[in-house]
Amino acid sequence: MPGLDEKLQLIYDTVLRRNPGEKEFHQAVHEVLDSLRPVVTKHPEYADAAVITRLCEPERQIIFRVPWVDDAGQVQMNRGFRVQFNSALGPFKGGMRFHPSVYLGIIKFLGFEQIFKNSLTGMPIGGAKGGSDFDPKGRSDGEVMRFCQSLMTELYRNIGEYTDVPAGDIGVGGREIGYLFGQYKRMTNRYESGVLTGKGLTWGGSQVRREATGYGTAFFVNEMLKTRGESFDGKTVVVSGSGNVAIYAIEKVQELGGTVIACSDSGGYVVDEKGIDLDLVKEIKTERRGRISEYAEARGGAAEFISGRTVWEVACDVALPSATQNELTADDAVMLVKNGCRAVGEGANMPTTPDGIKVFNDAGVLFAPGKAANAGGVATSALEMQQNASRDSWSFEYTENRLAEIMRNIHDRCAETADEYGAPGNYVAGANIAGFIRVADAMLALGVV
Ligand code: NDP
Repeated sequence: MPGLDEKLQLIYDTVLRRNPGEKEFHQAVHEVLDSLRPVVTKHPEYADAAVITRLCEPERQIIFRVPWVDDAGQVQMNRGFRVQFNSALGPFKGGMRFHPSVYLGIIKFLGFEQIFKNSLTGMPIGGAKGGSDFDPKGRSDGEVMRFCQSLMTELYRNIGEYTDVPAGDIGVGGREIGYLFGQYKRMTNRYESGVLTGKGLTWGGSQVRREATGYGTAFFVNEMLKTRGESFDGKTVVVSGSGNVAIYAIEKVQELGGTVIACSDSGGYVVDEKGIDLDLVKEIKTERRGRISEYAEARGGAAEFISGRTVWEVACDVALPSATQNELTADDAVMLVKNGCRAVGEGANMPTTPDGIKVFNDAGVLFAPGKAANAGGVATSALEMQQNASRDSWSFEYTENRLAEIMRNIHDRCAETADEYGAPGNYVAGANIAGFIRVADAMLALGVV
């Protein structure tokens, strides 16, 4: 990774020393610090109050045991996490991830990113993240329910609508949020809708929340394309993943006139030159919890499944990495650029490696970092919290218009901030600086707490 300014390097060294072995967290911190060079020069007051040093240390980290009984009557044990990173702007807010790769370093990287993302939305929400190394794949509904109930039996005492408001992420969708909310309600004897977001529409959920992250990513990329007089219309697009974010990114890209020809899961990818049949993907991945390889089987000769490889080898105009962190490397970026890719929008969190981002920047590819491009999910969660607080429920159309407006504002704020700090067209710098300044100003105002 490139060297940092001297003061920022000292802060980074402390982060490395305090958080050994947490490489994803180090990567996320380094990227932000790298963007902050012009900010520390212009605003010495942040250094005086040790704002950046404090920002790199979570306010609270909770790690707990999650025992549960599987269908065979065997006792299983997982580890649960909640990292409450920063509450200067509002209650802690961020998703829960259930995936076997989860450990403290992943949750800390996600929580750290969440601070800046939530700040960029302009809404009153702090940053947090949580999860478990539990693997829901192949587990029955009953096992997932018992796991969620056990996790919430410990977590409930640390969350609340004014304290910390979890949501979904990888492995946590509507089913899991339902089980978590049910147990919270039982433990507290309160129908406190605003304690979790991503709820079902009949029990306090918001229209568009399910679609929001993917739709928002497509809206953001559309705004970037407009700066070059272009749009999705007629563009060929590839999307990694086939989960919540990927599915709704595909849906909105298709509505905006693009043709998505490939998507994937952790087993490989499918190419369908005529355009992905999204109803089929939804049926396989959401309803049946199956594998994307089944898509090619169902489409006969029209689609092909390529096992163990990534979508980045498919030629496209626009790429939307929407699966997981560090899934798009420098080699992948070189291949995308060589094949004509002109815009990249991160639906996932930190899916592109730092040297991958450099390849895109050097080649003049429009690049939207996750903390800006995928902020539509948490922004719509904040809209869900607003509806819960006022016991109201808004229409799909109204909520989607709010989301589109929020994404336009985030896009413009990133672009303007990048200009102001001498990095025109660099959305990574724009997002990091704009996100940082709002939270740093709040931290200054709140004193040393
Ligand atoms: P889902 O669990 O719905 O889907 C995840 C998708 O990514 C699946 O297709 C999964 O494949 C694939 N995937 C997960 N882990 C890996 C891995 N280690 N290697 C390869 N593929 C993998 O998650 P979401 O769609 O909700 O989340 C996707 C990304 O978007 C994450 O980075 C998340 O943090 C980010 N995000 C999500 C938000 C939301 O609202 N849900 C909000 C903002 C960001 P398989 O089925 O084979 O596991």
